[in-house]
Amino acid sequence: SIGVRVHHLRKTFRRGEVQACDDVNLDIAQGELLVLLGPSGCGKTTTLRCIAGLELPDNDDAIWVNGKNMTRVAPKDRNLAFVFQETAMFPHLTVRRNISFGLDMRRKVNKAEINRRVDDAAQMLKLQQLLDRYPRELSGGQGQRVALGRAIVTEPDAFLLDEPLAALDAALRVEMRTEIKLIQRRLKTAMIFVTHDQEEALTIGDKIAVMKDGVVQQEDTPHQIYHRPVNLFVGTFIGSPPINQFQCSLQDDGTTWRLISRHFNIALPDSIAQRLKPISALVILGLRPEFLRLGDSQGDFTGVVKLTELLGSRTLVLIESEGEEIRALVQGASQVKEGDQVSLSLDLDKAFYFDEN
Ligand code: ADP
Ligand code: MG
Repeated sequence: SIGVRVHHLRKTFRRGEVQACDDVNLDIAQGELLVLLGPSGCGKTTTLRCIAGLELPDNDDAIWVNGKNMTRVAPKDRNLAFVFQETAMFPHLTVRRNISFGLDMRRKVNKAEINRRVDDAAQMLKLQQLLDRYPRELSGGQGQRVALGRAIVTEPDAFLLDEPLAALDAALRVEMRTEIKLIQRRLKTAMIFVTHDQEEALTIGDKIAVMKDGVVQQEDTPHQIYHRPVNLFVGTFIGSPPINQFQCSLQDDGTTWRLISRHFNIALPDSIAQRLKPISALVILGLRPEFLRLGDSQGDFTGVVKLTELLGSRTLVLIESEGEEIRALVQGASQVKEGDQVSLSLDLDKAFYFDEN
């Protein structure tokens, strides 16, 4: 079923000098959670504000909700709920009144119905005990729950969340993102969740749209975004610790195709060579740290361990090879220690191959 459609959205500021959104296309079905991910300034907020009606797109057919063109419809008539990074609450009103505020204004919703909706939302958000409190008596996390409650009670066609967890500390952010996903699952409403945090995006998105300079680079499932990035930007923006990059040239030695870098010179299986030939003679091989295997011998190249960092169930091993730093992620505690010489093997099937730009 249809939800929100962003259609060739263009939005410029300063008489066209700043192009915040450059032909943005997005489709969010009812019941789907789309994450809009990208670095600061890439156009995430502008996209969301255009959907909400707080900015006017350059083109007249940019915003559709449930099949209706909403591009020129006033914000209050769109039935969308917007949650910001930090929420302005009314200091002299209780939590209950802060949540119900938007509904109190709507004459067609009666008092009993308002109370029912607030109580339902409060239960979902674990705010039942706090309904009589005032904003100054709440923590930052509780304040964001109130903001979500305010959105939920209006029963919107879609939720638009602009970095709603950015002001919270790390542990609370992790807890609340799970709660937001559970609430979205229960309400089955379309949700667009903006973040610059790739881990947040991977964990909660049904789909992720990665943006850069006003352009959507890739819209896909978290799995595809992680394992099949379409370009170097997406490959490097997603994943932590970051991906390893090797500058390579592709050369035919008469019998086989070889991939040559300052670190290694390896014969390529035919299947991979066939895929690479159309790309370019110069390629960047990207390999996530978990797909670099460490051993004592028989690898594709060698390096020296500079540092190991325990990351709980896994260990990050930093290796120096030919003056470059390479990252390997191994399960459990590390078998190698600082100063050890190690051999490294590339899992070529798991690697990405990008052209230089
Ligand atoms: P993000 O939310 O991804 O950080 P924004 O959508 O806020 O990015 O901004 C995208 C670009 O548009 C930036 O270059 C920003 O400076 C510019 N921009 C946003 N709003 C305005 C405005 N009102 N006037 C001029 N430039 C703006
Ligand atoms: Mg923003």
